[in-house]
Amino acid sequence: MSIKNNLNNISNTIPENVTLIAVSKTQPVASILEAYQAGQRAFGENKIQEMTEKFDVLPKDIEWHMIGHLQSNKVKYMAQFVHLIHGVDSFKTLEEINKQALKHNRMINCLLEVKIASEETKFGLSFDEVEQLLKSEELKNLKNVNISGLMGMASFTENNEIISAEFKSLKHFFDSLQKYKSLNVNPTILSMGMSGDYKIAIEEGSTMIRVGSAIFGSRNYN
Ligand SMILES: *Cc1c(COP(=O)(O)O)cnc(C)c1O
Repeated sequence: MSIKNNLNNISNTIPENVTLIAVSKTQPVASILEAYQAGQRAFGENKIQEMTEKFDVLPKDIEWHMIGHLQSNKVKYMAQFVHLIHGVDSFKTLEEINKQALKHNRMINCLLEVKIASEETKFGLSFDEVEQLLKSEELKNLKNVNISGLMGMASFTENNEIISAEFKSLKHFFDSLQKYKSLNVNPTILSMGMSGDYKIAIEEGSTMIRVGSAIFGSRNYN
């Protein structure tokens, strides 16, 4: 199957209100162009340097999504162009994003990453930590960031019931956040679902799926 066929197959089966992010990490520029020519505009990367190099050489109407864990000291390299940062899991990172966004006189959209999987290794905030952050006075001062929603990753398991339950709990929590809506908190995006579990994620209320290998084929690393 070609990249174009894979993309069409996925696009044709997901509801209209769900945005497909093509996760292009480790993929060459030629593969991204192939997806671009098939009409795809939103791409996800997990390393800032790799994303910046691709941004430099690819068409400027691409929306770049940072989906990886962030190193604060590298935020400056993508602040000028990044469309949405999915993996924010500390106030300190938000402060740095705000500072860099201000330099470019723009607002940067961010998702708070929530830990829903049972595995020890996954990054993310607890539900309680998300609420503390959204309630905090300090957040009001970050006028150049917009909290647009949440991102989560389910456990790596074959057990669909576990995956469903984890996504369901995140959706439930996401719905409860509307009470925090303010100038820079506008929770409209729920980013959950990857190649292996996006169908379950959509059933459970995802509005944005991040799909790599089901579009581009398997990766050698990451
Ligand atoms: C790599 C990655 C994806 C895509 O994974 P696939 O299984 O290839 O679809 C989605 N989200 C995050 C955060 C990733 O790092």
